[in-house]
Amino acid sequence: MSIRPIYLDCHATTAVDERVLAAMLPYFTEKFGNPSSIGHVYGWEAEAAVKQTREILAAAINATPEEIVFTSGATEANNLAIKGVAEAYFKKGQHIITVATEHNAVIDPCNYLKTLGFEITILPAKKDGVIDLNELNKAFRPETILISVMAANNEIGVLQPLAEIGELCHAYNIIFHTDAAQAIGKIPLDVQAMKIDLMSLTAHKVYGPKGIGALYVRRRNPRVQLAPQQHGGGHERGMRSGTLYTPQIVGFGKAVEIALAEQATENQRLTQLRQSLWSQLSQLEGIHLNGHPQQRLAGNLNISVEGVDGAALLLGLQPVMAISSGSACSSASTAPSHVLTALGNSQQLAYASVRFGIGRFNTQEEIDIVAKHAIATIQSLRKTSFMDSRARKYQSDLAPAD
Ligand SMILES: *Cc1c(COP(=O)(O)O)cnc(C)c1O
Repeated sequence: MSIRPIYLDCHATTAVDERVLAAMLPYFTEKFGNPSSIGHVYGWEAEAAVKQTREILAAAINATPEEIVFTSGATEANNLAIKGVAEAYFKKGQHIITVATEHNAVIDPCNYLKTLGFEITILPAKKDGVIDLNELNKAFRPETILISVMAANNEIGVLQPLAEIGELCHAYNIIFHTDAAQAIGKIPLDVQAMKIDLMSLTAHKVYGPKGIGALYVRRRNPRVQLAPQQHGGGHERGMRSGTLYTPQIVGFGKAVEIALAEQATENQRLTQLRQSLWSQLSQLEGIHLNGHPQQRLAGNLNISVEGVDGAALLLGLQPVMAISSGSACSSASTAPSHVLTALGNSQQLAYASVRFGIGRFNTQEEIDIVAKHAIATIQSLRKTSFMDSRARKYQSDLAPAD
């Protein structure tokens, strides 16, 4: 068997924790009932399991179980939140505010609404990736119905000031949505204290299964209206029809329960690993940290490297470590990351960037191997590119002047 690279791409997805898998398994076979079947025990036990996850998620964000709407993930939750609000409130106004560093699952629904006649303001981020509250304040209009600002960034790990944004939104009577796909289980979230009206969640970034997520929808002060985006049997109080995927929902609940129980110690451990990686890498010249140095996810390190070609760097690193350049969600394209360019990086620096996503199953030993290999790769690439430029200069010196 070939040796597999060290997994450091935890912002793209994570392995399902064995404890999560164990909780899920009975719900594929003996407890396979449809939670909507109210006439027999098969339905009751499935419904009880779904109810338990609703309670875990609600407690995790200080909501009530009735405010949790299950979806297929954060992409669907974002679509339901943004398009659902736009459709329900368009008579009140047709202006939406979001930020340049958002995930495409927020940007693209907004761009779609633009084709329907909505006006979208895309706020810039400061150089450290945090939004400027003064800019936000200036962007509000009487016809603004929604603002969407993510909790934690999937590329640079930056945490946005949710409580301050929520305060402003409620003062202006504007619905506040946050994409918390990277935040759930990793940082404290409180929809009351932070005045959040809609929150998108997903399981697979926090050691749960793929294909399950949720949207928190505020029911009081104010009660948020949503136009459903998927019609059918009226599940999830009509907001999202479709038979609930019980095994995935059970896994989601277990994953969040474990993450919350271990949050404080795990964040400490991840911070140490990240600092160790950074202190080793930053011994080299020309290595830049992207994003705010403290206000970020514990497991995120995003760097830009001077003097190397981005594609060559990834190629050199990939045999030893599974990492991404920029956003995994757009790694099919070679364009520089829209998040890094939004921070004001030059195209070249944004391109020669690496995102390390450190997680639950990484060890100090792995971090040391990764740091050593990354340093050797960068040094060797810089040497070759220096020799290339010397060779080019030599050739041009020899070339006849005309
Ligand atoms: C991963 C991610 C998404 C997409 O979530 P899915 O559950 O895979 O649809 C959306 N937003 C952010 C910030 C993410 O990191």
